Amino acid sequence: VNAPPSLRLQPPRPAWGLRLPTRKSLTAGTGIRVLDPPQRVTLALAASGGPPLAPGVVTGQRVLRGEPIAGAGVPGTTRIHASIAGTVTAIDSRMVAGLAAPVPCVTIEGDGDDTPWPGYGPTADAEELPAARLRELVAMAGIIGLGGALFPTAGKLSGEAPAHTLLVNGAECEPYISCDDALLRERSDRVVDGARLLLAATGIRRAVIAIKSDMTAARIALYDALQAARDPRLDLALVTGRYPAGGERQLVELVVGCEVPAGGLPRDAGVVCQNVATTAAVADFLRRGQPLISRIVTVTGGAVAAPCNIEARLGTSVAALVAAAGGYTGAPRRLVMGGPMMGIALPDDELPMTAATNCVLAATALDLAGGTGGAELPCIRCGHCIEVCPARLLPQELLVAWRQDDLGALDHLGVAECIECGACDYACPSHIPLARRFVAAKARLQAGAAAAVEARLADERSAARTARLAREADARERELAAQLQPPGPPA
Ligand code: SF4
Ligand code: SF4
Repeated sequence: VNAPPSLRLQPPRPAWGLRLPTRKSLTAGTGIRVLDPPQRVTLALAASGGPPLAPGVVTGQRVLRGEPIAGAGVPGTTRIHASIAGTVTAIDSRMVAGLAAPVPCVTIEGDGDDTPWPGYGPTADAEELPAARLRELVAMAGIIGLGGALFPTAGKLSGEAPAHTLLVNGAECEPYISCDDALLRERSDRVVDGARLLLAATGIRRAVIAIKSDMTAARIALYDALQAARDPRLDLALVTGRYPAGGERQLVELVVGCEVPAGGLPRDAGVVCQNVATTAAVADFLRRGQPLISRIVTVTGGAVAAPCNIEARLGTSVAALVAAAGGYTGAPRRLVMGGPMMGIALPDDELPMTAATNCVLAATALDLAGGTGGAELPCIRCGHCIEVCPARLLPQELLVAWRQDDLGALDHLGVAECIECGACDYACPSHIPLARRFVAAKARLQAGAAAAVEARLADERSAARTARLAREADARERELAAQLQPPGPPA
């Protein structure tokens, strides 16, 4: 019999970050409420952050629950699936929650019977399959990073750099959000099973599931699931509740003890990170043939009557999520997708949720109190922003460079490493919206870098064309010279 899983003690408290009021108690005690399929869903065809996929359906076509609607037939492409059974009523560009511009979408009007597509089923002996085949199946299942990044999971599992640790991230550090906590409390066995399948899909020999030390019920459930699995490759790590300990780079540092190089990915430090919900989604597909068509969303805030965690089909409207949580108690001061630190304000609740919608926060003024807000005052050079920055940047110096419009200095000071956590904003007594400026600076630098690459490629194309024309002219001259040669003496 293998030894039970080891429980790793809490790593040392980091010098960075904030201890925030978590406000998770609003939903932390509630179970997962599974929402009935809605009458209509709108599914973004660019849900994984890359260029949109071409739709594989046409208007008027009948689809079943779980049927691919984009990406099928292209090996290695992360598919998108119908989240309800019904009829495709529109294929057009629409706004979805969390994105700033319209994206191509497929809208399905439900027929009420929710018939499942018969094309998928459990994968027999999944752990015995070659790693490359497992990664193909993960792409087929349409699984993307449910921690919010939406990066295609299959892509993250393959890589040139060798990896020694699979880090399963359950350290949900943003206030209010408890969807991962709910998943761990109720479905820890799926997370543990998914971690084992991900080990098989990567060839990595060790997995660590990291949660916050104050997630008591989740810790008990997870420990039970780990004991039942009796797999010595799996460990449980408890990390600090400081914000943003759940950030990928911060978690690698806290749990694995190594730093992700600047400009690099966790893989460059030998670590593959996956969110707990993503990990469970892998088990859902390989064990039950269930592609990614739903996710758990925390619906919370002072303007919601009965905050709770809801499992909802992708493409459900935010309004339907709020209605399932008892509706509004009054007009929210702000409607946010995500938490109060890194969330994105929603213009209205008619937008459909996506796989990135981990939380809908209908916030009152009280929910938004503390941290950011108030009139912006001059920087007093107190250094609080530097103390809290998890990326070890100098926000105060970055601010100076931003005000001087000095992109070179912003680049030199490492603004690209900013994880946009907003901790500096929260700590700033002068209410300076630092993070927003750094996001803009990053976008300008990226645009500049893309333009520089395009200019270099244009130079290379131009040089190649000039060389080709010179070669052709040379060849023509040699041919002409050969034709003009006087004939030799008769033999
Ligand atoms: S926290 Fe605000 S006031 Fe203090 S140094 Fe940073 S930017 Fe300036
Ligand atoms: S938003 Fe950027 S600069 Fe500010 S604390 Fe977070 S990582 Fe540091």
